[in-house]
Amino acid sequence: MQIWAGPCAIESEKQAMQIAKEVARYEGVIFRGGAYKGQNRPIVKGKPCFWGLGEEGLQILHRIKQVFGIQVSTEVQSVEQLKLALDYGIDYLQVGARHMQNFPLIRALSYVQRPIILKRGLGNTVDEWLGIAEHLRANGNKDVIMCERGVSSFDRTNDTRWRLDCLAIAEIKYQYPHYKVIADVSHGTGRRELALPMAKAAKGAGADGIMVELHYDPDSSPTDGRQTVNFDQFKQIMESV
Ligand code: PEP
Ligand code: MN
Repeated sequence: MQIWAGPCAIESEKQAMQIAKEVARYEGVIFRGGAYKGQNRPIVKGKPCFWGLGEEGLQILHRIKQVFGIQVSTEVQSVEQLKLALDYGIDYLQVGARHMQNFPLIRALSYVQRPIILKRGLGNTVDEWLGIAEHLRANGNKDVIMCERGVSSFDRTNDTRWRLDCLAIAEIKYQYPHYKVIADVSHGTGRRELALPMAKAAKGAGADGIMVELHYDPDSSPTDGRQTVNFDQFKQIMESV
């Protein structure tokens, strides 16, 4: 299993370094962290929403690579951001759920020779998702990693946000065993205590990897704190998958 772990958002160099240090303790784990964030509303809990550090976040990711010798992954939302991410040597380029059908971005990424993590759109079918993967491969990029991150559902009982669709993982692995599919057990559950059982479920469904949001103090995180695991919970996930 390949693991991606790190904060939802890069908040500062100090915060990112502290989490990267923990990630680096586990061999082969890739550090993830958002430099560009999107938010559902401009005001969150009475405060202006956090858009991410932008280019400064990419610089911090670059430093993490140098300091810890680990690979890094981040979301790009536009062609401009993609160019910057390439300049800073980002190893994995993430397409966010809301950008799965951002066609200018998808076309630009199809010419890039770097692995791409393609998140499934919140309300997109497996077929639509696979279609975008085909677009990404059309111009020679062969390294597309499908990331199931939960889909919209009528049922958000107890703050589960989206529902991790393990059936989609099993279906893709059945139809296209050579496709890489990973499960984002943070966005796919909405609650950190559900990340471990769903990581096991995703592995059972055939997932090749797991993405999880990680923080030393998840509740202090400006974005996605509720679904972010702490260091102890991460250790448990690493031990079981
Ligand atoms: C993220 O990975 O932090 C993120 C914004 O994910 P998604 O695009 O799946 O909502
Ligand atoms: Mn997030």
